[in-house]
Amino acid sequence: MAGAVLTNERWQTRAACRDRHASVFFPPSQGERNNDRSERERLAKAICTRCPVRQPCLDYAVRIREPYGIWGGMNEVERRLLL
Ligand code: SF4
Repeated sequence: MAGAVLTNERWQTRAACRDRHASVFFPPSQGERNNDRSERERLAKAICTRCPVRQPCLDYAVRIREPYGIWGGMNEVERRLLL
């Protein structure tokens, strides 16, 4: 849902998250407890692990400095560490 719906990039058509609900990849608008966040991110990253477009998804998120969510198997903190 992250890369699959929110971009117009060509790789999105092959995304493993195309039919997944965004709530797996993005935090809720209200607060999220640490345990809930850990579990949500674990589920999202498991989907990313078997995604055929993981690298272009991650490249895109890093390039646009995407501030939220799991993209390419990484959360926003992990992506910032790449820069
Ligand atoms: S790497 Fe993850 S977030 Fe990116 S398109 Fe694939 S499943 Fe979706």
